[in-house]
Amino acid sequence: MSNNRYRAVLCDLDGTTNRGKTPIQGAATVIRNLTQKGIRWMYLSNNATLLASHMVARINDLGFPVSEGQVVNSASALIHTLTKDRQDAVVMVVGEPLLIEGIEAAGIRVTEDPSAADIVITAMDRGFSYDKLNRAQNAIHRGALFWATNQDASLPVEDGVLPGAGSIVAAVAVAAGKQPDRVFGKPSPDMAQFALEILGLEPESCLVVGDRMETDILLAKNVGMDSALVLTGATSTQDLLNFPFTPDHVLESIADLPDLFD
Ligand SMILES: [Mg+2]
Repeated sequence: MSNNRYRAVLCDLDGTTNRGKTPIQGAATVIRNLTQKGIRWMYLSNNATLLASHMVARINDLGFPVSEGQVVNSASALIHTLTKDRQDAVVMVVGEPLLIEGIEAAGIRVTEDPSAADIVITAMDRGFSYDKLNRAQNAIHRGALFWATNQDASLPVEDGVLPGAGSIVAAVAVAAGKQPDRVFGKPSPDMAQFALEILGLEPESCLVVGDRMETDILLAKNVGMDSALVLTGATSTQDLLNFPFTPDHVLESIADLPDLFD
């Protein structure tokens, strides 16, 4: 099937371009060739343990062409929203030092005092503790907003999985008796909208490529973009039947992506 209307690709990483530290065969060539044809390329990752600047280094290590303006993750979308809409907010961060550093670098004040927090930001946190949970609980009880980077239950790593941001968000939600007011990761539209701002394009001219129905493909549906599901990650053709929505394209691998641009 050919389609010349896509001017940009919003591409997932793990399961789509790579598995852990191993690139998917043909991915680097596809990204280079489409980029050379003038297709704009953005990497969209829910992962908020790394800032966009660190993700650039990781993507580079995989052998893919990338610059800082081509990476959006749930942390950068959240920080972008804070600086745009809530520059004066004081935030409590249940998250790792890099995320706190990124928020502070954007000029946002961070507190550990539940009575001073306007927003509680929850992310994956390998230093999560009962004390942090209690402070987040108290801040939300006192009226602070509850924002989550993403709700991924787990994070795939080389030798298995780690509890993801969603596990921490669930703990805070139960303790505070409240679901998050806002979630930035896929399938929420924030990351795609941030990418559109960077690209200066309309959703109709963008294609989302990813391996997860409930994040990547649903994100595309939520923002009015076309989508291509790749079968190199979390989803098999069999799994497709379990969802009330379908991708516009199904590809064995990202290596087949040029078929949609010929
Ligand atoms: Mg993925």
